[in-house]
Amino acid sequence: VIEIGQPEHSVVTTCAYCGVGCAFKAEVRGEEVVRMVPYKDGKANRGHSCVKGRFAWGYTNHKERILKPMIRDRIEDPWREVSWDEAFSFAAARMRGIQKKYGRDAIGGITSSRCTNEETYLVQKLIRAGFGNNNVDTCARVCHSPTGYGLSQTFGTSAGTQDFDSVEDTDVAVIIGANPASAHPVFASRLKKRLRQGAKLIVIDPRRTEMVESPHVKALHLPLMPGTNVAVVTALAHVIVTEGLVNEVFVRERCDWSEFEEWAAFVAQPKHSPEATAILTGVDPKDLREAARIYATGGNGAIYYGLGVTEHSQGSTTVIAIANLAMATGNIGRSGVGVNPLRGQNNVQGSCDMGSFPHELPGYRHISGDAVRDQFEALWNVKLNPEPGLRIPNMFDAAIEGSFMGIYVQGEDILQSDPNTKHVVAALSAMECVIVHDLFLNETANYAHVFLPGSSFLEKDGTFTNAERRIQRVRKVMSPKNGMADWEVTIGLAKAMGYDMPYNHPSEIMDEIAALTPTFTGVSYAKLDELGSVQWPCNEKAPEGTPVMHIDGFVRGKGKFIVTEYVATDERTGPRFPLLLTTGRILSQYNVGAQTRRTENVVWHAEDRLEIHPHDAEQRGVRDGDWVRLTSRAGETTLRAEITDRVSPGVVYTTFHHPDTQANVITTDYSDWATNCPEYKVTAVQISPSNGP
Ligand code: SF4
Repeated sequence: VIEIGQPEHSVVTTCAYCGVGCAFKAEVRGEEVVRMVPYKDGKANRGHSCVKGRFAWGYTNHKERILKPMIRDRIEDPWREVSWDEAFSFAAARMRGIQKKYGRDAIGGITSSRCTNEETYLVQKLIRAGFGNNNVDTCARVCHSPTGYGLSQTFGTSAGTQDFDSVEDTDVAVIIGANPASAHPVFASRLKKRLRQGAKLIVIDPRRTEMVESPHVKALHLPLMPGTNVAVVTALAHVIVTEGLVNEVFVRERCDWSEFEEWAAFVAQPKHSPEATAILTGVDPKDLREAARIYATGGNGAIYYGLGVTEHSQGSTTVIAIANLAMATGNIGRSGVGVNPLRGQNNVQGSCDMGSFPHELPGYRHISGDAVRDQFEALWNVKLNPEPGLRIPNMFDAAIEGSFMGIYVQGEDILQSDPNTKHVVAALSAMECVIVHDLFLNETANYAHVFLPGSSFLEKDGTFTNAERRIQRVRKVMSPKNGMADWEVTIGLAKAMGYDMPYNHPSEIMDEIAALTPTFTGVSYAKLDELGSVQWPCNEKAPEGTPVMHIDGFVRGKGKFIVTEYVATDERTGPRFPLLLTTGRILSQYNVGAQTRRTENVVWHAEDRLEIHPHDAEQRGVRDGDWVRLTSRAGETTLRAEITDRVSPGVVYTTFHHPDTQANVITTDYSDWATNCPEYKVTAVQISPSNGP
């Protein structure tokens, strides 16, 4: 434990790592955190935390943190420290210059799911109102954008249906493409407690995850081949329909019956049976039939899923297929059931809620809607562009083509976290103004002209919204070490560009969000202080928030069944690349490790390793601990091998926490058909022995 003295006072705030959203008491001495104590009244964590959150302050004092704004004319030049005003003027002049030369739509920005609701709201407001276009996207593009699409289409709203407490009423938990034991540990503990009480667990994942191996938990594991989610979920539906396990009362009352009939006829086709799809999916038909029967007949069935569902070329299709399954079995609209995306980052839900997508204003309202635009135009005092803007991959393509030349990146290392690193480098290199707003000089900053130092969650006020739609306060524990909280930086940049956003405190930004967003009309800092947190929708109909959604009816009215045809990814194995790579996380690291690698705790520094099945390792002469070269059609990297039967023959697995590994050097350009979410979870690769990096 790292302590620097006895605390003088404590501040209740919210963890800034994963989407569980644990509340903590930050115990403080002067301007330094002494320790982080899980807050017993935190409604998401109820006094528990994981190792990441317990040590979530070390990086704020790390020597590599940048505290002064910096600029440079060309990326080959050294950085020059300047005042905030000079940095804002330089950035604004460049961005306006680009617009003059290339047109209004030649600039844009990316909001961060790590920042607060108020900060992401401000960035999208700056882009729409200050830049005059809708070229705003979010880092959620690369993780949960298919959730937004799939759940909106079927249920009518882009969010998980339950609160975490709901798991206490669950009889059957189905985890698809997620490993909560590593990525959402506090939720995993609550789930395991329920499993120890007798609830059943089904895990659909190419890898035997920690949830499957967990002591005292007996899981039915369906180890599917990466890329076959749709085929597996459709086969589950086939069993439910053909064995008469549909909850017809629910479907007749709550869903469109003719759409259900069309879907049921589709899934009932013999080609969708577990037996017919077994060679494709790699799943034993007996296990698949058993899983379908358990989910449909075992009482309250809840589905939890993660990026192993969304980061595929059929990510949106799988989300829809999961929603179909829940509706067909009546597992929606009460405690213990539902469809629950496990959000990777602390504020993925919030950044999406706040209008970070190029086609949607806050509250998921399409930018082309005249009445909605009128409302925003009146309050923002501007005319808004009704045309959707560019998504992140379209921004990169446009940069390479020469029509998108300036970008403001809030709190994301796009070079490390977006697919096909070579393509991102080419795009960033082509731009005339790259503004990086971050804590550290990340990999993207190598291609930046302006660096605006960011502030950590401990240095600002605001709110995060966790995976269960719970809005919680982030409270300032210490003064911003760089002199400015992130919301103030965006306001400074906007002002230099000629657009004034005069707020004195983030609570005023939340008041504006509430005035413009129907699901937030009852949200205020006063209410959050009084209740501790609220789950949206929080409005006149639900003044204390909504723990479980779709109780009396779906947000869209009738639940919508949609046929989900399996289409194989274009990323194929073959003689040159015979193995399929999929990726995940470890408990002690967070994403690309920018913070966890800079926090002084020995468990942080576990390296990324490549898990290989003994059969595949033997064929290639690879032993445990050897260096191996991992090659794909896009690139190559070098890792140490870990030989394990946690993965099936033909499948390899790694994490992506270290910049040296650069897992995204080898991922492809393929992406979800509906949302462009990259297909990180399926890459055809080859392995060969190596002498090291
Ligand atoms: Fe809780 Fe997630 Fe933070 Fe761990 S990382 S303390 S589970 S919010």
